Amino acid sequence: MNVLVIGGGGREHVLVYKLKQSPLVQKIYCAPGNAGIAQIAELVNVAPTDVEKLRSFALEKSIDLTVVGPEIPLMAGIVDGFKEAGLTIFGPSKAAALLEGSKVFAKNLMKRCHVPTAQFEVFSSLDDAVNYVKTRQRPLVVKADGLAQGKGVVIAQSTEEAVQALESLMEERVFGSAGEKVVVEELLQGPEASVFALCNGADAVILGTAMDYKRAFDGDQGPNTGGMGSISPHPLIDRAMEEDILETIIKPVLRGLMEEGIPYTGVLYAGLMLTQEGPKVLEFNVRFGDPETQAMMPLLESDLAQLLMSTCIGNLSAVQVQWKQEKCVCVVAASKGYPGHYQTGFPINGLGNVRDALVFHAGTTFDATGNVVTSGGRVLSVVATGKSYEEARQKAYKEMEKISFPGMFYRKDIASGFD
Ligand code: ATP
Repeated sequence: MNVLVIGGGGREHVLVYKLKQSPLVQKIYCAPGNAGIAQIAELVNVAPTDVEKLRSFALEKSIDLTVVGPEIPLMAGIVDGFKEAGLTIFGPSKAAALLEGSKVFAKNLMKRCHVPTAQFEVFSSLDDAVNYVKTRQRPLVVKADGLAQGKGVVIAQSTEEAVQALESLMEERVFGSAGEKVVVEELLQGPEASVFALCNGADAVILGTAMDYKRAFDGDQGPNTGGMGSISPHPLIDRAMEEDILETIIKPVLRGLMEEGIPYTGVLYAGLMLTQEGPKVLEFNVRFGDPETQAMMPLLESDLAQLLMSTCIGNLSAVQVQWKQEKCVCVVAASKGYPGHYQTGFPINGLGNVRDALVFHAGTTFDATGNVVTSGGRVLSVVATGKSYEEARQKAYKEMEKISFPGMFYRKDIASGFD
């Protein structure tokens, strides 16, 4: 079959890499892709947001399966548009994508379905929100309803901080209409986890689990980023807990959506906190995680194309997801200054010397002479597998040392503390 992957980051590179291993797949296109993806797929110069052009392309090239990486095209309704044209596409509809696009929608759904999550209140009036936080003595979490690139969440240790956060979201509108409504919720404690399930209607199977490292610097210091590394499987989630998450979180949410006439198809990414009372949902995302996917896919033994196709055509009950009994570590190399301002266009050296790990590109492109140069904040990731986290980690770091570009930085503590 012919496959179109939409997006151009490390997540899309590893998806293309994995799809290419399938005997079912003849040709892969990627829009817009990056310099690494260019080596294994044909790049298409169309932005992920240009749904109309992507649909024309898919029809013209007789694409049998389209896989959407980022959330923006999902929220813009790419799945609805492709389906109307009779195309098979992996991802949720615009209505279902609201699970990520609106925290108020997600929280209310969880409440109705008795899914464990932080206790919360929703406000659309600043005065009401301020009065509420003044009655609470504990630390609170203030969240913008809409998307704010991971920056719309404030952990407020004091009432003053909570009020300040509310004012900047609801009055100053620092994230525009994303702050029309806010969620104020209790602070949860515990390690975080990312759990991915393939879903179709009421059916779901766990695809995999991972831990990601969000902060820019070692020891979880510095600002939040898109993710500076990841490990898979999650070291604290065993088979029994996976099953529990499937039955008490994923399936109830799917049933709740079905009751609203919104069947969910695609991958559901549950961002969890593993609290003393058990796993609780922090957020849902409606797509694969980046960089979690880079650490999950190298361990997947099942045919990814077949898994995604089975999900699309609603045949999940027979699906068995097979994994290598190994660990995987992904370390992200970023441009100096990321997640703030950074420069691009620097040549990347040593890519050809990596032997014992996989390299997935993110912010890379070709310069006028065909050399691979940096073009983004997160530039690439080095991914290694091993019998233990420690073995995988040592391999990943040894191989990372062979790569260099001006201003390159990466965390040195990914997977440390786990054997
Ligand atoms: P992302 O960048 O992951 O998409 P987001 O803006 O969608 O972020 P959340 O995932 O809801 O927001 O929250 C971001 C981070 O804030 C979480 O990963 C977690 O570390 C922290 N957080 C959110 N809610 C809570 C909570 N109730 N208790 C403690 N920490 C929380």
